[in-house]
Amino acid sequence: MRILLLAPPGAGKGTQADRISVHFGIPHISTGDLFRRHVAERTPLGLEVEEYLRRGDLVPDDIVLGIVEEAVADAVARTGGYLLDGFPRTLAQARRGYRIAVRLGATVHGVLHFDVREPELLRRLLERATTEGRDDDTEATIRHRLDVYKTETEPLLDYYRGRGVLVTVSGEQPVDDVTAESIAALEAIRQKAGA
Ligand code: AMP
Repeated sequence: MRILLLAPPGAGKGTQADRISVHFGIPHISTGDLFRRHVAERTPLGLEVEEYLRRGDLVPDDIVLGIVEEAVADAVARTGGYLLDGFPRTLAQARRGYRIAVRLGATVHGVLHFDVREPELLRRLLERATTEGRDDDTEATIRHRLDVYKTETEPLLDYYRGRGVLVTVSGEQPVDDVTAESIAALEAIRQKAGA
């Protein structure tokens, strides 16, 4: 099963992705986590992307596509599937990602979208800022990341809706309900696709 997770910052992607990937027995690939690990380990790639993450800006596509291709190829070789969380973030990334997936024989079955209204996202992110202390969880950066999502990433919803692979689940329900609804919708897609 191959899934993309498309949701704004603060929608609960990380928690849900962990649960859904366990359910389907597929690796959870989070581009944000991969970048944060590189930054923490002070790798050359980490040093290159550090400023983008701190500002809440998108990392340039060539860098993103490089780590995505490596991680997806590895996941496909091991399990045939993946849950990609945080990619694509732009239409250009979606198009390039699709070409890579075709080459690997591993295009996606479904795109899962969590819908959460902006004031709720802001509230959650500000709360996370006090508990987790992520470098990019300052109020100015949070607002910027929400703007970037709206202008760069939200147009992807129409793109995937047009391809008939989009599933939208309200991310404002209790966490367990979001998980259950997501898994039910993805199971329906899996059956249809025979994956
Ligand atoms: P996330 O954990 O998904 O919120 O990502 C944290 C940060 O990593 C983002 O604010 C970006 O700076 C960077 N990032 C993650 N995924 C991507 C992507 N697909 N394209 C560009 N930048 C990304």
